[in-house]
Amino acid sequence: MMTAIPGEATVAVVGAGTMGAGIAQLAATAGHRVLLFDSRADAAAEAIAGIARRLESSVEKGRRSAAEVQAILSRLQAASSLADLAPAALVIEAVVEDLAVKRELFAALEKIVGERTILATNTSSLSITALAAGLSRPGRVVGMHFFNPAPVMPLVEIVSGLETETGVAETAFHTAQAWGKEPIHVRNTPGFVVNRVARPFYGEGFRLLAEGAADAATLDALYRDCGGFRMGPFELVDLIGLDVNLAVTRSVFAACHFDRRYTPSPLQEEMVAAGRLGRKTGRGFYDYGEGGERPEPASEPDGPVPAEITVEGHLGPAEPLLDLAREAGIAVRWQPHGPGLVHLGETVLLMTDGIAASEHAARQGRPVVTFDLCLDFTTAGRIAIAAADRCQPAHLAAAAGLFRALGKKVTRIADLPGMVVMRTLAMLANEAADLAHHGIAEPEAIDLAMRKGVNYPRGPLDWARKIGWLRILECLDHLARSYGEERYRCSLWLRQRLWQEAHRHG
Ligand code: NAD
Repeated sequence: MMTAIPGEATVAVVGAGTMGAGIAQLAATAGHRVLLFDSRADAAAEAIAGIARRLESSVEKGRRSAAEVQAILSRLQAASSLADLAPAALVIEAVVEDLAVKRELFAALEKIVGERTILATNTSSLSITALAAGLSRPGRVVGMHFFNPAPVMPLVEIVSGLETETGVAETAFHTAQAWGKEPIHVRNTPGFVVNRVARPFYGEGFRLLAEGAADAATLDALYRDCGGFRMGPFELVDLIGLDVNLAVTRSVFAACHFDRRYTPSPLQEEMVAAGRLGRKTGRGFYDYGEGGERPEPASEPDGPVPAEITVEGHLGPAEPLLDLAREAGIAVRWQPHGPGLVHLGETVLLMTDGIAASEHAARQGRPVVTFDLCLDFTTAGRIAIAAADRCQPAHLAAAAGLFRALGKKVTRIADLPGMVVMRTLAMLANEAADLAHHGIAEPEAIDLAMRKGVNYPRGPLDWARKIGWLRILECLDHLARSYGEERYRCSLWLRQRLWQEAHRHG
C-alpha cells in the first residue's frame, strides 16, 4: 500500500501565479510546510499576501478560526532561490505553459532535491513523457493537474507519462486524497481527460451556432435548461477567455496529428482575431460593456392543448413526458408496437435520433416535429423542437401547445441532425468512450472527472448508458451520414457495449 507524502513533509511550489498560489494554500492548509518560489522577485511574497487576504476574509465569514489561519500562514514561506527547495519531498511546478521552460526547471531541480523527491507538474496540455525526457530519473515525474481555483475544485488528474513509476503516481494520488481532493489516474494523452472529453462541448456548440441552429443566448439556455449543464458553451468560453479556450483546442488538435474531429471553429478563430475574447475584453459572444444586455432565449408562443395523444412504442428517456401529459389531463392512448413516436393530430412528434425532422418527414410523408433530449424530462423547464420543412404553422403550434401544457417553455431551433443536447452528449460520450478504449482512464474515473472538473450534471458514459448505448450510436451514425464527416465516427468501445448487452440479453 503506497502512502501519501507525510503531513510533516515539506512541499515546494514553483511559480506563484494563479495556480501556484492556490496549490500552495491547499498544501499549507493540509498541514505541510510550503516553500513557494517564483523567478520574478517579490512574486512569491505577493502571492502569500494574497493567500493571507483570502484566508482572513474566510475568518470574517466564519468559515475558519483566526488561529487556524495563523497556523496555515505560519507554514507558508517565500523561497528566494531554487536551491532553497532542497528539503522538499514533493515539488509541484506551476510556471508558464512552455515545454522548454518546464524541462529546464526540472533539470535544475533534479540537481537540488533529494533522490526520493517527487517532481510534479500542473501542466494542462504538455506531455508528461516529454517533460520528463532527458532527466536522469524520469520515473519521478508525474502530472498533478489541479483545476482553478485549486483550493476549491475537487478534481486532480494524476497523469502518468511513459516512464512514471507506479509508486510515484500512487503517492501523488494519495497525497491529493489527503488534501481533500478527488483524484483520478490518467495515462498521458493530449488534453488528459477533462480537456479532451470537453472538446465537443465547445466544438458542437460552435458548429450549431455557425449552422444557424439558434443564437448563442438561446443555445446556452438549451444547454442549461434541457441539458442540465451549469453553463452553456458560449457563456463558459466568455468566462474562460476565447483565446485560452482556442489555445487548448489547437493544442489537442496538433497533438492528435490534426485529427479533423478536433478542428478549431473558424467562428471562434475569427472572434479571437477580432479581439473579442470574452469578459476580459468586455465582449465575446455577449456584450459586457455598459448597457450590454444578455438577450432572452427565443421561445415559441402558446399553442392549443391537445385533448389526447397516441403513442406508438416506447419513448425511452422521454417516457416521463407521458406521465406529465396524464397529469395535465391529456388522454394518452398507447400502442405497444412502434418506433417510439407520438401522434398529435396529423403531426408526428419524436425525440431526435440524429436524423433531421425534414428527412423523417420525407420518409414518412407526414409532418414531423422532433424534440431534443433532456437530462430529466420531468423537471426540465424548457424543451427544444425542430420542424420539418413541410410543417405548417398549425403543426408547430400543436407541438408547442403540448409541451406548454406539460409545463415546458418551448424553443424552436433550425432543423439540424441531432439537435443540441443529444448531439453534444453523443459526442461527449464518444470522446469518453475513446479514452476508455485506449485505457487512458477507467470509465468511472472519466465520468467522475467530468462531474468534478467541469461540473457536468452526469458523467457522459453513465448518461449514455442510462439513455441506451444504441441511441448514442445511432445518433453518431446518422450524424456521420448527414455530414459525411469522419468527425462523427463512432468509438469501437461504444459498439462493444452494445454487443455485450445483446450477449447478456440473448
Ligand atoms: P500564471 O501566469 O498566473 O503564473 C505563472 C507564474 O510562473 C508567474 O508568476 C511567473 O513569474 C512564474 N514563472 C515563469 N517562469 C518561471 C520559472 N522558470 N521559474 C519560476 N517561476 C516562473 O499562470 P497559471 O495560470 O498559474 O498557470 C501555471 C501553470 O498551470 C501552467 O502550466 C498552466 O497551464 C497550468 N494550469 C493553469 C490553469 C488555469 O486555469 N490558470 C489550470 C490548470 C493548470
